[in-house]
Amino acid sequence: MIPYLDLKKINQPYEEIIPAISQKILESGWYILGKEVENFEKNFAEYCGTKYAVGVGNGLDALILIFKAYIALGKLKKGDKILVPANTYIASILAIMIAGLKPKLVDTNLQNYNLDLDSVKNSIDCETKGILAVHLYGQITDGKNLRKFADENGILLIEDAAQAHGAKDQDKKAGAIGHAAGFSFYPGKNLGCIGDGGAVTTDDPELAKCIAALRNYGSAKKYHNTYKGMNSRLDEIQAAILNEKLKNLDTDNARRRATAKRFITEINNEKIILPDWDFSENHNFHIFAIRVKNRSDFQNYLSEKGIQTIIHYPIPPHRQEAMKEFSLLDFPITEMIHKDIISLPCHQMLANEEISFIINVINNY
Ligand SMILES: *Cc1c(COP(=O)(O)O)cnc(C)c1O
Repeated sequence: MIPYLDLKKINQPYEEIIPAISQKILESGWYILGKEVENFEKNFAEYCGTKYAVGVGNGLDALILIFKAYIALGKLKKGDKILVPANTYIASILAIMIAGLKPKLVDTNLQNYNLDLDSVKNSIDCETKGILAVHLYGQITDGKNLRKFADENGILLIEDAAQAHGAKDQDKKAGAIGHAAGFSFYPGKNLGCIGDGGAVTTDDPELAKCIAALRNYGSAKKYHNTYKGMNSRLDEIQAAILNEKLKNLDTDNARRRATAKRFITEINNEKIILPDWDFSENHNFHIFAIRVKNRSDFQNYLSEKGIQTIIHYPIPPHRQEAMKEFSLLDFPITEMIHKDIISLPCHQMLANEEISFIINVINNY
């Protein structure tokens, strides 16, 4: 069986360094918000090309903290509308709601499954104070145009970069395109830890300071609380592991792109709709998603041949039981994508023979 994602294999190169790091931190006696977190924040900001990075507990909290910080700083107020693609993982929408803001769902583009500037322009009204752009599957589309539009209209552009570590829109990396961005280091992401982790990146010193306090009970100085904060801290062991893994992120992403390039150039089955990609670095192929009619038939076929696939995602957020308030809305493109989409294995440890095998099997479908 070729598993969709082989986390054990992905972490094999670190099987000596991770116990060594853990031992060192155990012996240091300092486990939360210490030197390793500080180091990672510096390294990750530098990697993304932003002035600041703030380590937090997970990707959902990263987004919630951005919105809460903008509210605390008076740049957003409770009830403001935030545009968000209907075609996303539910976390993007939840973050807006949990922070006390109002998500306004927008249908996406059938070509790249993301928000485009035209649909944003058509959906915006005077209550809209921000856009949450999701780099779904790891691809940045229209990033610079969205930023320009946001700046011209005095609204905030926030990136859900939870899938896009290292993806690059010309000279700007994910995390450096909007006014702020949220990352996840969930184990399966392109940069993943051995547990939960997340970060916010931004060039805004006030926002970075506010989030650094909000993640720690709203306190910048021990037992002095400036804001009503939460507890969402990155721990020292995860930060130290991320510091090691960050060194290989570009190599890992390049390997994923090389695999994706093979899939795109060598899969020639008319039943398959391949991702729209210009072979640039705008995609990190966190997910290699294709579209196919009669998806379950195709998925069963691949499974019988020993290839595991996953569906990202089977039910759109506005059709989830938890989101009944959206149940009367229709997003035809989002619904079509959810019906047809299926993800192939594309991680950096896939062997060339495995890639060739996947291509052959698909071409014979
Ligand atoms: C993974 C993910 C998140 C949430 O990250 P967690 O670390 O699991 O909280 C948010 N948005 C998107 C698009 C994601 O893929």
